[in-house]
Amino acid sequence: MYNILIAKYGEIGVKGKNRYLFENKLMKNIKNMLKPIGDFKVYKEYGRIYVDLEDYDCEEVIEEVKKVFGIVGVCPAIKKEKDYDKLKETALLVLEEKINQGYKTFKVASRRGDKSFNLTSQEMSLDIGGYLLSKVGDKISVDVRNPEVTISCEYRENHVMVYSDTVKGYGGLPLGTNGRALSLLSGGIDSPVASWMVAKRGMDLECVHFHSYPFTNQKSQEKVRDLAKILSKYCGRIRLHKVNIIEIQKAIASKCKDEEMTIISRRFMMKIAEEIAKSRNCDALVTGESIGQVASQTIQGLTCTNAVVGIPVFRPLIALDKTEIVDIAQNIGTFETSILPEEDCCTVFAPTKPLTKPKLDRIEKSESALDIDKLIKEAIENIEVEDIEF
Ligand code: ATP
Ligand code: MG
Repeated sequence: MYNILIAKYGEIGVKGKNRYLFENKLMKNIKNMLKPIGDFKVYKEYGRIYVDLEDYDCEEVIEEVKKVFGIVGVCPAIKKEKDYDKLKETALLVLEEKINQGYKTFKVASRRGDKSFNLTSQEMSLDIGGYLLSKVGDKISVDVRNPEVTISCEYRENHVMVYSDTVKGYGGLPLGTNGRALSLLSGGIDSPVASWMVAKRGMDLECVHFHSYPFTNQKSQEKVRDLAKILSKYCGRIRLHKVNIIEIQKAIASKCKDEEMTIISRRFMMKIAEEIAKSRNCDALVTGESIGQVASQTIQGLTCTNAVVGIPVFRPLIALDKTEIVDIAQNIGTFETSILPEEDCCTVFAPTKPLTKPKLDRIEKSESALDIDKLIKEAIENIEVEDIEF
């Protein structure tokens, strides 16, 4: 029965003169998100975005629209030609659906877009409410203070509309409105969540993955590709840079202390990521680090990895617990892939007892035994690039 969706957006409503830019971006992103299902009419009216449903399955379309960053809620609605009696009948249709779903109290909220109409919005609510009660008053009652269901009725200049439910969206800002970030994507649980969170704030994403092929197998790279693919559902096409760091790890293993392996290879990752970021116009790096989670993520560890980069490093998970991260991973659909037991480049040379409180000067001294520039140059020369799309 629903023939249109109302896409509600929050924060971008307050962006002043830039508002229309955000709205246009949002409409484009909704259209893109819906492309696999069909070519939808997405348009703006009365400071809202509408999606015509035509004959498409309402729930399937809502499921996609709510993934678009910037959308705070999606309401399935019924739009009919301008006719007050039709508005009342439609309100009854929606209320009957709510009764069937077991709701017991309701109220009517009205809007009069056509100021020439002879009822005010308050009078409309009273009138429609009375009509509904006369039809189904034995099954549901009115509660204006705290209703379980609100039936929203709109009498506009050229149509009428009724809606009730709002399916929650993720919020955030439209993709592409806040620059680009390069995310360090491992095969773990954390970095896909961190990437998603930064993209949610409107940043376009590219990803870099470090592997130790042939010490790590192809399967572990496929896993990362699968994760990037899930992310691309939300973020659009993602460029994945795959960097083989086996020679770097071998060099560290032969020239540095075993316990420094993790922190020094992390520093190489950050430096290489920064080089890629600069060459790709990315303004920031993203990692899935969380304070205290593992040995390399103590404040001393983070200080050492951070010291090698000049551009901002975003760590959206820094203050989240693992359980909170897992909740998001499940919600966005990356968890099942993340827990597949593939090896990671970090486990190949994992020290038995990694340093938990590395000192920057000591680490720098150890590193001086390595030809850092040459190792980085060679790793970058051998980067493989893949564009990933859902
Ligand atoms: P994740 O679940 O994201 O793998 P983690 O808890 O395993 O994180 P670490 O292994 O210490 O933590 O990695 C910290 C961060 O460093 C990761 O979140 C990721 O951003 C980056 N990172 C680690 N390994 C890689 C890799 N092989 N390729 C790209 N980035 C990596
Ligand atoms: Mg990891």
